[in-house]
Amino acid sequence: MAQTSEQTLTELRRDLHERPEAGWKEFRTTALVAEELDELGYEVHLGEAAVAADARLGVPGDDEIDAAIERAREEGAPEAYLDRTGGITGLVAERAFGDATGPAVGVRVDIDALERAEATDDDHRPAREGFASTHPEEMHACGHDGHTAIGVGIAREFAENDGFDGTLKLFFQPAEEGGRGGKPMSETDHLADLDYLLALHLGLGLETGTVVASYERPLANAKLDVVFEGEPAHAGGRPNEGRNALQAAATAVQNLYAIPRHEDGATRINVGKVHSPNAQNVIAERAEMRVEVRGRTADLNEYMLGKAERVLDAAAEMHDVDLSTSLYGKTTTFGADDAVVEAVLDAAPEAAGVEEVRERKEFGGSEDASYLIRRVQEEGGRATYLGIGASNPAGHHTAYFDIEEESLDIGVGVVAETIRSLD
Ligand SMILES: [Zn+2]
Repeated sequence: MAQTSEQTLTELRRDLHERPEAGWKEFRTTALVAEELDELGYEVHLGEAAVAADARLGVPGDDEIDAAIERAREEGAPEAYLDRTGGITGLVAERAFGDATGPAVGVRVDIDALERAEATDDDHRPAREGFASTHPEEMHACGHDGHTAIGVGIAREFAENDGFDGTLKLFFQPAEEGGRGGKPMSETDHLADLDYLLALHLGLGLETGTVVASYERPLANAKLDVVFEGEPAHAGGRPNEGRNALQAAATAVQNLYAIPRHEDGATRINVGKVHSPNAQNVIAERAEMRVEVRGRTADLNEYMLGKAERVLDAAAEMHDVDLSTSLYGKTTTFGADDAVVEAVLDAAPEAAGVEEVRERKEFGGSEDASYLIRRVQEEGGRATYLGIGASNPAGHHTAYFDIEEESLDIGVGVVAETIRSLD
């Protein structure tokens, strides 16, 4: 019997909250979900069968991946499923219901945690009630523990109750944070035959009981990891022999923020980190930067990315140092399809606990479900991205982030009611 099959969604969410796994390290999460869904009669695709391995972005080094697998094993991840991941997290599960002549409907939830510490004092319920993170510098600070539980809840709901004639595909997407897992999952064939895709997010500032039928137009985003490499030298004795990587980074920072705004719409740029590990008397041989750009459209994002790469190249050239960049993550943008938005507006009020359903709201940030949604739309399917209120006591990505757990059953109910109404 699957380890999680006796757990309520709240218990499952708390279990995952206590053992959060950051992007591409979600081995325990993946194996636990796979075990239960397999038992519920779903066909489970793992590893390279769930994610296009070569399209993965921002993958940690082999040592970190191995350590994450080992940790999952120590924390009781079912061995058979852990092996089937082949070192790649995430899963797709599918099952036909009725005589399967109805629509193929996908549901996408993300499963990863953030790389940050969790609050430990009694003002924070997970700490007070004993289910705060036991992994240093990892925390479910965006509600993806709840998303995973909702995904399992939807699998249970359809396995246990009929009323749906069609095919259900559940996408448990890894590495959403940073925009790393959506693109590789979108490149598999699992999305090609979907008539509908529903993605969802808990919280987003909404009170429990409030549902938004369509969060749309997230900013397209790209994240770059940058390294400048020069030549070290004694800063007093032979400064002329050095090639200063830190100077190149400083030049780049100044000029990245000076990229002209674009007449077509909103753009963003941010340098989140500059690191150069030298003493005062060394011409810096190495400097690392973490940079991101965003745009209202995919084109505006490409504009920003192109200009940023030009600035980085020119800064390296100016200071005679070498430059290497790697794409850490990338997202695009999307709009919802009216037919699905209307289906949610009609069906969501039928779900227990729903008090208010709003039609549309604009995203503030970025979201890599965008790649899955776009793929489905390109193939002729229709999609929306739902907001499920969860009365967060603190903002997303902060140490005190939490969700109200009534939102889990509400999320399952809203998605299930919507799916049953589609044809
Ligand atoms: Zn999130």
